[in-house]
Amino acid sequence: MISTLRRTWAEIDLDALENNYKKLKEKTGEKTKFLGVVKADAYGHGSVQVAKKLTELGADYLAVSSVDEAMELRENEVSLPILILGHTPKEQIHNLIDYKLTQTITCKAKALEYQQAALECGGILKCHIKVDTGMSRLGYLVDDEGFAGGVDGIVEACRLDHLEVEGIFTHFAMSDGDSEFAVDYTRHQFELFQKVCAGVEAVWGRKFQIRHCANTGAVANYPETALDMVRPGLLLYGYGKYAERLGLLPVMSLKSVVSTIKVYQPGTFISYDGTYVTDKVTRVGVLPIGYADGYHRYLSNKWSVLTEDGPAKQIGRICMDMCMIDLSDCPDVDVDSEVEIFGRQNSIDEMALLAETIPYELTCSISKRVPRRYLSNGAVVDEELLLRMPGSLG
Ligand SMILES: *Cc1c(COP(=O)(O)O)cnc(C)c1O
Repeated sequence: MISTLRRTWAEIDLDALENNYKKLKEKTGEKTKFLGVVKADAYGHGSVQVAKKLTELGADYLAVSSVDEAMELRENEVSLPILILGHTPKEQIHNLIDYKLTQTITCKAKALEYQQAALECGGILKCHIKVDTGMSRLGYLVDDEGFAGGVDGIVEACRLDHLEVEGIFTHFAMSDGDSEFAVDYTRHQFELFQKVCAGVEAVWGRKFQIRHCANTGAVANYPETALDMVRPGLLLYGYGKYAERLGLLPVMSLKSVVSTIKVYQPGTFISYDGTYVTDKVTRVGVLPIGYADGYHRYLSNKWSVLTEDGPAKQIGRICMDMCMIDLSDCPDVDVDSEVEIFGRQNSIDEMALLAETIPYELTCSISKRVPRRYLSNGAVVDEELLLRMPGSLG
């Protein structure tokens, strides 16, 4: 094994991904298409490997945020349809056409701009229309007074001869909320979306091939929103409050090793700023993982990592490249022992609560310095380290 892979690494369990896909597929039914969201390097899990696995499992579509993310997949032989959820500058339209990518159309101005760019490069751009039903981000406005204008605008886009409109979608803002307000809000978004789809189809005289809106919260809570395709991200990776109920497993485990162990007397300051002072003779382990790897400094003195001899509290400020743990109650842990920062046994959902964030942000921030190790049937099937050193892994 290359030495850098034995510092701090992320294990990506492809069997867990398969389990999650199959469980979600069972839930949403054979007839509903499945789009796997693999933006942000598949939420930090490695988009190429995840996309290949989803292809093998029979997924219908992938989604990324940008044209670069999509081209990266194509350059790595991923051939499933790919929807770009975010903005693409018009200078890049030729790439969308060359790489057979599907672009989101979010407003009249963009529709016209993309039409013109596609015309200039002599191609047809495949598109999905985005409707803003309450997320207040991207999409055609269709609120009360804007409804008729929104429908007209979408019909106009559908009729542009260098755009091929395949689908239409919207995005829920609160589908994972439990409050009555969140439920009403989500229902309203869904009703409005259906009204827009029907309104456009009536005027356009054609049906959208793919209507989709169900993100993680909607897949878990609102099965009626599945329509032609579901579009989960987080659930696929097995995190969040619905994962357990749905029988999903966390795909990523972040691991490190104990690099050094030292024993300090009571009253010793540990790490920067003296935020932790030993109150006993303390056996301290140094881990080669810090905030530059994605272990947020904000979690200093809050989280416990899991050793082979039970949990060990992280103590003192988390540094850029290292942090310290209290091994006083883990006598069996030695230099080179493995620790799990989060994973199958040490839940990232709890870690996210302590960090006052969501698991999405924690997996996305595992940095490129951290090699990804892909596992299947307990064996390592691939390793990836994104350094600017071609061939660094042989
Ligand atoms: C990120 C994203 C998703 C996936 O969201 P999850 O909450 O991870 O399921 C779906 N649709 C759009 C438009 C997104 O941006």
